[in-house]
Formats: sequence, C-alpha cells, structure tokens
Amino acid sequence: MSEHVIIIGASHAAAQTCVSLRQGGYAGDITVIGDEAVPPYHRPPLSKDFLSGQKSLDDILIRPIEAYAEANIDLRLGVRVEAINRAETTIHTDDGETLAYTKLVLTTGARIRRLPIDGEDLDDVYYLRDTTDVMAIKEKAKTAKTAVIIGGGYIGLETAASLRKQGLDVTVLEAMPRILQRVTAPIMSEFCKRVHNEEGVQIIDNVLASAIEINGKEMKVVTSCHQSFAADMVIIGIGVIPNIELAQTAGLTIGDGIKVNEYCQTSDLDIYAAGDVTWHYNPIYKTHLRLESVPNATEQGKVIASHINGVPKPYHSLPWFWSDQFDLKLQIAGLSTGYDRVVVRGDNLSGRSFAAYYFKDDKFIAVDAVNAPRDFMFGKQALSKGKALNADVLLDANSDLKAAYKHG
Ligand SMILES: Cc1cc2nc3c(=O)[nH]c(=O)nc-3n(C[C@H](O)[C@H](O)[C@H](O)COP(=O)(O)OP(=O)(O)OC[C@H]3O[C@@H](n4cnc5c(N)ncnc54)[C@H](O)[C@@H]3O)c2cc1C
Repeated sequence: MSEHVIIIGASHAAAQTCVSLRQGGYAGDITVIGDEAVPPYHRPPLSKDFLSGQKSLDDILIRPIEAYAEANIDLRLGVRVEAINRAETTIHTDDGETLAYTKLVLTTGARIRRLPIDGEDLDDVYYLRDTTDVMAIKEKAKTAKTAVIIGGGYIGLETAASLRKQGLDVTVLEAMPRILQRVTAPIMSEFCKRVHNEEGVQIIDNVLASAIEINGKEMKVVTSCHQSFAADMVIIGIGVIPNIELAQTAGLTIGDGIKVNEYCQTSDLDIYAAGDVTWHYNPIYKTHLRLESVPNATEQGKVIASHINGVPKPYHSLPWFWSDQFDLKLQIAGLSTGYDRVVVRGDNLSGRSFAAYYFKDDKFIAVDAVNAPRDFMFGKQALSKGKALNADVLLDANSDLKAAYKHG
C-alpha cells in the first residue's frame, strides 16, 4: 500500500500538519477530512475582529483553499469521520467511504459545553465556536440592544467587548467568585473587570444562571437568586469538551483528552493527535496538560510532521496564549498555577499597561502582560530557555529587564 496520511478534523493543527509534511518532503498521499464547510480558519478572530466586522471569512482562512490542491493535499469538507478500524487501518466517513491510512492524525479539537438549563435552546441564545455561530450572532447584533453573556472566560469577555464596541448594552454573568478564575490569577481578573466596567460592560460575579425565559418577545436570564436580566440576545461561553469519542471507541488511551507521547503519538503508534483534543506531558512544567491554544495546536502539528518525515523532534513548548479585549492586548506565557509571589511592573490599578511576573518557591513560572509586549517577550524567552529571574530586581520598575537575569 502506498503511503497515505489521513488527518481527521480540518483544524488549525491539521492545516499545520499537512503543510509541514510537504515542507519536510513527504511525497505520499495526504487527505484532510473536516465536518465544517469552511477550509481551516483561525478561530481566535471569531470572538474578536470577525465578530466586530473588521475581518471577513477570507481574511481568517489559514490558507487560501487553492493552496491545498497546489500542495497535492486532498481537502474534503462537510464530511464527518464516523469510525476508525485500527485492525484494518481504515477510517469510515458519513458519506459512505472507507479509506486506508498508513498514518492517521486526529485533530478533532473540542466542542462547546452546553449549559443544562431551561431555555438554552431558544432562538436568540447562542454558543460560539465556529463561523456559523458567529454569522448568526452578527446578524442578531444588528438589531439587538441588550446582550447577556453567561460565562466570564476569555471568549465571554472578548464577545462582551466586541458587542459593546457595536453599541449594545452588555452584562456578563459569572458563576465563580471572579471572572477568568479557571485560567488566570486574581490580579488579571480584577484588572479585566475594571476595564470592562470602564467601557460600560456590567460584570456580575458569583451568580448562577438558572433559566432563560421568554414571554412574548421579552427574553430574560433568571438566576438562582431570582434576579432577572432582560436580553435581546444571550451568548453562552462556559468552556469546551474535547472531541475524544472517535479515539475512545477505537480503544486509544484517554486522560483529559487523547493521551499522546512527546512525538504526539497515541497509544497506537501509527495514530497521532494534536491540538485541543490532546492530553500531553509538558516537560517544562513536568505535568500532563490539555491546552486550548493555537500555539499548542500548531507546535504539535509540526512535531507530528517531523516524526512522520523521519526527523523526530520532541514536543518541548512553553504554553502561551493571547486575548484581545477593547484596547487591551493580553499576552500570557507559562502557567501561573500555584504561584506564591507576584511582582507587578506598570499600573494595573488605574492604567492599561502592566506585566505580572509569577514566582513559585522563588522560581519564575509565568508572566501576564497587558499592552506590554517587551515584558511578554522577555518573560517568554526566560521561561523557554529555563533562565532564572530575580523577583527583587523586577520589583524596581526603573530597572532594566535584563538586570533581572540571575547569573551563576
Ligand atoms: C472564539 C474563540 C476564540 C479563541 N481565541 C483564542 C486566542 O485568542 N488565542 C489562542 O491561542 N486560542 C484561542 N482560541 C482557541 C483556539 O482557537 C483553539 O485552541 C484551536 O482552534 C485548536 O485547534 P485544533 O486544531 O485543536 O482544532 P479545532 O480548531 O477545534 O478544530 C477541530 C475541527 O475538527 C472537526 N471535527 C471534529 N470531529 C470530527 C470528525 N469526526 N470528522 C470530521 N471533522 C471533525 C471539528 O468540527 C473542527 O472543525 C479560541 C477559540 C475560540 C472558539
């Protein structure tokens, strides 16, 4: 049988894997199968520039559609893979085809987590994961005056900012004591809440949406404390669930996602996985992680391509992420979980530019930078290269960043 890499899910990781395969000299067949109708696109702009109308669908494509054919990549859209047969090394699609692979790559990503309350399926209630979701939100936002967003994570806050910029009255309801609780330290939560308030977004923490009700044309979100919030549209952003089912049914090892080794191989060494769906070991933090970020999806795509091309390069990447809200560019490198000291440079209390450096047992572990690209790059480099930083030097806002390197 001739060499054939099949990639399931026309995603960020897929777009990277197939191109890196060709760039690395792979001459066999490549098929990418995705159930969305659109070629692989950048998802981050969905809640940012695409929602606020500054970018079109063409602008957010990872590559123009012709680029796949030019690289001899068979891109099949609107097709869902229903099963993997590992014994026969085949996959089966919902349009009735069975295709044989020599290597299989799972980049099935994640899907939205639904909120199990009455009314979450009403017409003007939306979730936000793909272009179809955002087209519907954009259409409704043209006439809506009020929006309630359930969930104060990054996607909820970015959506709040985009809708507010379009003139809507926006309220964010967060179930936890603070927004962004799952992903960042209190300092960032407090900062983001202040900026959203200054921009006219109302953020209410510690409040549990318990139903969405409609009475004629009046819709409202009701909370467990019997408060109610009128809304022309409701957007729910309460996280995602990794699409592990294909792998699970095929008998692959699953943790908090599909378990992969440092070459992104699953428990079947001819089957790889990349992106939001993977549960992988991070050598920098010495722990297993499932990351929902573009840098992780693209890095893992590169790791798979080099392994298939016979030039194995283990995954050794620092987790990093960004978010855009109003005039804020948030850039985050590393994981701040478990920190015991934070050093702030800049003005997080009344300004809009600062960096927070996190330390654990005197070891530098993460940086959050807001409109502070130099701090982000400096922190990211130090973490990637394993360089130690001196917190006391950083504390002096007038010190040069490089002076914070610990020597010896
Ligand atoms: C609104 C939004 C904003 C974001 N902002 C940021 C940001 O600012 N920075 C950042 O780093 N990350 C951001 N992310 C996260 C980032 O987009 C994801 O981490 C990234 O898209 C993950 O890519 P992936 O390759 O894992 O797969 P995904 O992008 O999840 O794509 C997986 C694809 O596989 C398809 N699929 C699943 N099962 C099958 C099957 N059986 N057959 C065929 N196709 C299948 C899915 O429909 C989907 O098209 C954002 C995400 C969203 C939704």
